[in-house]
Amino acid sequence: MKLLIVEDEKKIGEYLRQGMTEAGFIVNLSRNGMDGNHLAMTEKFDLIILDIMLPDLDGLHILKSLREAGNKVPVLILTAHGSVEDRVTGLELGADDYLVKPFAFSELLARVRTLLRRGASPVVETTLRISDLELDLQKHRVSRGGQRIHLTTKEFSLLELLLRRRGEVLPRSLIASLVWDMNFDSDTNVIDVAIRRLRAKIDDNYDHKLIHTIRGMGYMMDSTPAP
Ligand code: CA
Repeated sequence: MKLLIVEDEKKIGEYLRQGMTEAGFIVNLSRNGMDGNHLAMTEKFDLIILDIMLPDLDGLHILKSLREAGNKVPVLILTAHGSVEDRVTGLELGADDYLVKPFAFSELLARVRTLLRRGASPVVETTLRISDLELDLQKHRVSRGGQRIHLTTKEFSLLELLLRRRGEVLPRSLIASLVWDMNFDSDTNVIDVAIRRLRAKIDDNYDHKLIHTIRGMGYMMDSTPAP
C-alpha cells in the first residue's frame, strides 16, 4: 500500500513517515504543496494524508484539483485546531476523513486503515449520534429529539469530543488540551463552566441525561447512567 503524505512541518512529517513505514506502508513525503500536488496528480497512491496549512499551495487546492481531475483516491486531511471552516470546506471538496491537530498517531493509523478497507467508494461519517442527540459535522448542526440546538463554536467542539469518545471518562486536563488548546490549571473552572452551559442546552430539559460527571475524574458522555 502506497501513501502520500503532504506535510510542511518537518517534525510531524518525519514522525508520520516513520510511523507509517513501520506500519508497513510505502511512504512518499512531500514538504510543500507544489511537490505534493505534482505527485498526487501524476502518481498512483492508495491514500493521501494532506495537511491543509501549507506555505505555497494549500491542501484544499490540492484536494480540489484531484477531485476535478476525477481522481477518487481516499484523502484524509489534517486541519489546525479550531479551523472549522477548513474542515467543512475539505469535506465538501471530497475529503474522506479529517483529523484535527494535535492527534495521536494510533488514531491516524486506525483512520487510514478504515479508509483503505472502505475502498474506492468512501462514505464520510458526517453525523455523530447518541440516543436522540445528533451532531452533524458537515452542516455544523446539533439537534436533540429533532429539535435544533444552537451551540457556540467551543460548545460544539466540546460536544464533538465527548461524542467521539463516548463511554470514556475524559479528565478535565484532556478536555482542556483538546478543546481549549491549553494546559490545565486546576485553579480554573473553565471546563466545568463550559460543561454546565452545554448541559443547559442539551441535557437539562430532558429526562434522559447524556453527560455524566465522574467524581474526581472528569466527564463522560454515555446513553446509560454513570456507575
Ligand atoms: Ca502545515
